[in-house]
This record gives sequence, structure tokens and C-alpha cells, in this order.
Amino acid sequence: MSLVDDARNGKITEEMKIVAADEGVEPEFVRRGIAAGRIVIPVSPYRDVKLCGIGNGLRTKVNASIGTSSDISDIDMEIEKARVAEEAGADTLMELSTGGDFLEIRRRVIENTTLSVGSVPLYQAFIEAARKHGSIVHMTEDDLFKATEDQAKLGTNFMAIHTGINNITLDRLKEHGRYGGLCSRGGAFMSAWMLHNEKENPLFSQFDYLIEILKEHEVVLSTGNGMRAGAVHDATDRAQIQELIINSELGDKAHKAGLQVIVEGPGHVPLDEIETNVKLMKAMSGGKPFYMLGPLVSDIAPGYDHIVTAIGASISSSVGCDFLCYVTPAEHLALPNAEDVRTGVMASRIAAHVGDMIKLGKRDQDLAMGRARQSLDWEKQYELALDPEHAKEIRNSRAPEDTDACTMCGDFCALKIVNQNYNLAK
Ligand code: SF4
Repeated sequence: MSLVDDARNGKITEEMKIVAADEGVEPEFVRRGIAAGRIVIPVSPYRDVKLCGIGNGLRTKVNASIGTSSDISDIDMEIEKARVAEEAGADTLMELSTGGDFLEIRRRVIENTTLSVGSVPLYQAFIEAARKHGSIVHMTEDDLFKATEDQAKLGTNFMAIHTGINNITLDRLKEHGRYGGLCSRGGAFMSAWMLHNEKENPLFSQFDYLIEILKEHEVVLSTGNGMRAGAVHDATDRAQIQELIINSELGDKAHKAGLQVIVEGPGHVPLDEIETNVKLMKAMSGGKPFYMLGPLVSDIAPGYDHIVTAIGASISSSVGCDFLCYVTPAEHLALPNAEDVRTGVMASRIAAHVGDMIKLGKRDQDLAMGRARQSLDWEKQYELALDPEHAKEIRNSRAPEDTDACTMCGDFCALKIVNQNYNLAK
């Protein structure tokens, strides 16, 4: 029995109750959302996690992706990144290692976090083929399904699986071309394999088998965005939409079979196309939880891509996106370190909150902060801040002589002048 089966049978499980209490909604709301495919709760039969609901009517969630590369593979650093992501308030973690001993790295990261963990099993299958046989194109279909099963048994809660790249999607991509190529590693691996072997994507052609594996291990299917554009000029093109059509159809099939499903989206998207993308994804997928990677709204700010992303992510969450994948300042430049992870999580948490102020009308915390500022109540301000420690650190590093104000305006603190001369409180 999966969570979807329980929800369809009218059963409110402990997981649904916990998520409902955390979100301030009725358990029945969560049950209905799961039964209809609009909400997911990543769980695993292999380990307990800090439960988080993702989807319609719930707070926008933030994922932090970590993982080694072929150049930098340091397990301790990945464990530290996982710790920092959790401490900074990420809701989920994706472990995306492509260097070193994948299973061991993932096992250690999973052991050291209470968050739900996601993975992309095809990385492992393709890279092992490259190590053993000299090229990713020599991966076998069995390798792919075995990697999926191995990772599920480690307690992976959700998997990005590139089901929507089939021969038609690839034709669209090749016919139309791209200004900025393809920035999804999964998309690049799978398309190269398909073209070299002149074969259909096994994740598409053997989708029923994939459903069986994921259902057996209660893994949430996140339909991968393999056609993700790497440049804003390629956003919302035919290949991306073709992949979305296929993923929407497969998502329905998987949900019907009892799987929880998330639909992944782009990527690099200009500001004026974000709402279109979110609404299209929601309409096509029947309202499934939408997981947006970024989105980055410009391509010219390397070093500041967490800010570029936060701008796009605040718009996307305000119009209905449910789940944001963070971007760190190291994006497009280097493997992120722990400090990059912290900065990326905070930037996406801010964006998620800004979106929720519109999408869910969640403005109580902002109102309380306004009042705390008016009354110069610093302890209250720290309590309400998204990152209290950082706020304290800045204030304390340049502490005022007059403890009521701060050193920005010192003796001429506008709030203090008003408070001393008249009452403006509402
Ligand atoms: S000193 Fe200026 S910045 Fe600081 S609390 Fe007063 S008005 Fe705000």
C-alpha cells in the first residue's frame, strides 16, 4: 500500500496528520491532495525523515542540491554541505554526486541528514559505464534499472528520472536547435546514448517496469527536465514543451498506479515567461506539484546566480510553483562549497517566502516584523528573521552606543524620533 493508495481509500495516515499540523491545514485537505496527485509527501520504508508536504495549498519548499564531481570528491565536505543545508532551513536535499564512490557517498549523506533525499540514478549508471567501458554510450538498460533500485534501497525519497526524452523530443531539439545548448546532465547523457545506440530511452519504453521499482520502494517520481535550456533565449521552446507533454502523460499513468509524482521544470526563463511556464505545467500535468530548477532570469551575472534565481523563484512561487531548487553563487563556475550552499538556501528561502506572501497570503511574520522595527525591539526582530544569527552578527559587529537604534542613522534614527514625539502605532 502506498500513500496514494491510502489517500484514495479515505485513510488519513500519520504522515498526512504531521504535514497538516506543520502547514496549518486540515488532514483531510492533505489526504485529498495526495489522492488527486496535487500533493506529495516524500517517505521511505528504509528510514524516518523530517516529513514535508509539497504541493497545492502548502508552503513553497526549497531543495538544496549537493554532490561530488569528477574533479572534487570529498565525502566530509559533502556531509558538511548536507549539515549546512539543513541548518540553513532547506526542506529537502538532492545528492547528485558524479565523482567517487556514489553509493558510499549517498549512504553517508543519508546517514547524516534528517531531510528527505532525492537523487538522479541515471548519473550513476552512465558514469559507471564510462568507468568500466570507456564511454557513457556503453551503459546497458539493466545498469539503469539496477542503479535506480540500489539507490532506492539506500532510503532515497524522491528521484529525478528523465522519462520525457524520447525520439520525438530529440527530433524537436535537433530540428529547432539551441542558442545555449542543453544544461541538464541527465538530458545530455540520455540523448547522447539514444543517438549513439539508435534506441529509445529505456525510462520511456520500459516505464511500467520503472513504476514497479519505484512503487516497491515508495520513491516519489520527479519527472526530470532533461530538455532544460541553458540560456534564457531558449526558454519555452518546442523540445521543452514536447518533454512536458510526455512527462504529463507518464505522470498521470504513474499516479494512477499509486505513485506520488512531481513534475520538474526549467531552468533559465526570462521574467515575462515564468507565469506562462508555471500555468502551462500545472494545466498539462493536472495540477501535480511543480518543481522549478531556479529559475534563472538572466544569464549575465555569474557569481550572483543565487540572486538571479531568487528573483525568478519569487515570481514562480507567487504564481503557483510548489518546490524550488536553489542555485548557489558558484553556479556555472565551480562545485559549491558549504558557504555557497548556505547562501543558496537562504536566497531560495527568501524567494519561497516572498512567493507565499502572494500565493498563500502569508504575511503575519512581515506584519510582526514591521511592529518590532517600529518599537525598536531587537530581540523580537531576531526571532522573526529568516536568518537570526546573520542579522545578530551584522548588528553586533557595528554596535551602536545608543542601544535603541542602530549605527545606520545613529542619533538621527527616524523610528526613535517619531516614537519620542508622537504615537503612530496601529
Ligand atoms: S537607526 Fe535608522 S536604520 Fe537603524 S533602526 Fe533607526 S531608522 Fe532604522
